[in-house]
Amino acid sequence: MMRERIAEDIYCFSSDVYAQVNAGAVVTPEGTLLIDTLATPGETREIRNFLEKRLGSRVRYLVNTHYHADHSSGSYLFPGATLITHALSRGLLDTRGRRGLGMAKAENRDFSQVQVVLPAVTFARGTLALQMGKRTLRMLALPGHSPDGIGVLIEEDRILFSGDAVMPLPHIRDGEVATQVRTLRTIAAMGLENIVQGHGEVILRGEIEELIGSHIAYLERIEREVLAAVRRGWTEMDLQQITIEKCGKSRILLNGLAPELHWQNLLALYRRFASGELPATVSATPRAAAPRPASRRAGRTTAAKHRRPSASHSKTSARTKRSKPARPKPRAARRAR
Ligand SMILES: [Zn+2]
Repeated sequence: MMRERIAEDIYCFSSDVYAQVNAGAVVTPEGTLLIDTLATPGETREIRNFLEKRLGSRVRYLVNTHYHADHSSGSYLFPGATLITHALSRGLLDTRGRRGLGMAKAENRDFSQVQVVLPAVTFARGTLALQMGKRTLRMLALPGHSPDGIGVLIEEDRILFSGDAVMPLPHIRDGEVATQVRTLRTIAAMGLENIVQGHGEVILRGEIEELIGSHIAYLERIEREVLAAVRRGWTEMDLQQITIEKCGKSRILLNGLAPELHWQNLLALYRRFASGELPATVSATPRAAAPRPASRRAGRTTAAKHRRPSASHSKTSARTKRSKPARPKPRAARRAR
């Protein structure tokens, strides 16, 4: 595990075991808030030893930025801490989280003692603020990578622990492109000094705008490419032609894990589109839906307002409607200031 001090009493811990996943801690006279727990019990214990033995600060609150195991599986090592998550995490930890842990235990003895911990405090809307010492720690929903994503903003320092809402390559297998794009726009409008991403290096103020622009371009590109692929009648294997480089990102990101995440993104979108679901940013007019090569306009957001029910897409309307982008809402950001 690597440790970095990013501001006075604010730390970032990075895994050297799995995908450069990050955790963070804000140490105050009233105890510590820990954000995520890294990937293995051994690394979680390293964090605990540093905070509790070396700094002598008790972990009083623990946040899981979402239910995925690389962020939440160490919660059981802090039985005295109050666990805070998004309201949706509770059910997801209890179902998918438990199933995933069962599989991890079968494969890896390091996980034999791990228990799923359900949150004591959740919020479903707006933000949730903790005042600890002289700091205001504000939790806010950042969905898109997963439905239950939250971040923690240290208001006085303008440092955001974003969870996987920001990572070196956007990953939407368990999420939605339109939601992820909205969340990225919200983050871009927050006026941040640093972003501690769910995985990878800490992002500095001067890098934020370009990074988020590039992430949004990537997401729009994969959506466009996969939609065109489905309309051309490509098989899943044909998606290999949509390389990560073609979508504007490098394969060396995340210690070489990026092509795997990219592939998962393509496959998830392909299966959604092939089953009739339309991207929220694409027109559902019969013309656009015709099975022929998509025009270059296919991915434009302006097309969304022309959507109307049609026989070929009726079964998807519930989902596409729910994720309709409307327009970016930097509201959470404003509230969070
Ligand atoms: Zn992750």
